[in-house]
Amino acid sequence: MSASRASRFVAAGAPPRIRVSFEFFPPKTAEMEQTLWEAIGRLAPLAPNFVSVTYGAGGSTRERTHATVKRILAETLLTPAAHLTCVAATRAEIDAVIGAYGQAGVRHIVALRGDPPGGAGERYAPHPGGYHNAADLVAGIKRMADMEVSVSAYPEKHPDSPSVAADIDMLKAKVDAGATRAITQFFFENDLYFRYLDRVRARSIDVPVVPGILPVQNFKTTKNFAARCGASMPAWLAERFDGLDDDPATRKLIAVAVAAEQVLDLLDHGVTDFHFYTMNRADLVYAICHLLGLRPAQDQNQSARVGVEKERA
Ligand code: FAD
Repeated sequence: MSASRASRFVAAGAPPRIRVSFEFFPPKTAEMEQTLWEAIGRLAPLAPNFVSVTYGAGGSTRERTHATVKRILAETLLTPAAHLTCVAATRAEIDAVIGAYGQAGVRHIVALRGDPPGGAGERYAPHPGGYHNAADLVAGIKRMADMEVSVSAYPEKHPDSPSVAADIDMLKAKVDAGATRAITQFFFENDLYFRYLDRVRARSIDVPVVPGILPVQNFKTTKNFAARCGASMPAWLAERFDGLDDDPATRKLIAVAVAAEQVLDLLDHGVTDFHFYTMNRADLVYAICHLLGLRPAQDQNQSARVGVEKERA
């Protein structure tokens, strides 16, 4: 923490309470499963607010998402949030997934429209018997169960959206339907987030809009991904990774430096909640959380225990 940051907290009386959440994807193979659980084991002692598990395009990971969430519930004291999309499924099928999550003990869903079955870039058409959009899905979840619902937000607007205003209208519809948190698509220029937040607040949307932070593990992959989801990659970022294609060790150090700079600037501007896209890897995210001041929970706080059978009340 820089001297100016530390002195500001002293002046204010106490450091802010930082809350983090970690996003994982369900593993495809036994090897990927091991990598995921190593990451969960490493990050869990940081006592995240929740950990979320994505839902593959078109429901392709339905069983694996469910299995991962169930294992988190069974073997850790972490609070899981299950992602769910409207794509390629009837309402009855989606309701069955919501019901199964409820029965398994899940109390938090990240509700999404999802990408068209042909992939991002194709025209989206709701399933004829399905939920129409993410706001409709939020309302469906709230009708069925007493669950916390988070939704997506797009500081640079979603590629399907004709304008930022239309995008914020959709966020408003999702919040009016019962969502109590928005998690943003990743971004690299904090000004984009602050400008977006101003517009969201001006539209009387009061829920937390938690910045989604993506540590750049691989610049080329991130660039391709960003192009598909409408996130910009500033020239300075390309410059920082320039010439490091065959130098993973230096790339890692740069990735932490870049993300640290971003989260510490957000912190300086009063942001206290951060959602990390972990890509199922712990090392970069752990280092960034350390810089945010997070430390592993001690014995008295077993909320992050992993790999032991829990005694849930
Ligand atoms: P919405 O918020 O419903 O819509 C985004 C924008 O597109 C809005 O402005 C809306 O008005 C506009 N729009 C929506 N439909 C139309 C239409 N038919 N015509 C014109 N404009 C339209 N994807 C997955 O498959 N699985 C996941 O687990 C997953 N997790 C995610 C988590 C986060 C935090 C984020 C930010 C994204 C995630 N995604 C995931 C990606 C997401 O599914 C895609 O971005 C998808 O294209 C939009 O879904 P949404 O709920 O974000 O869209």
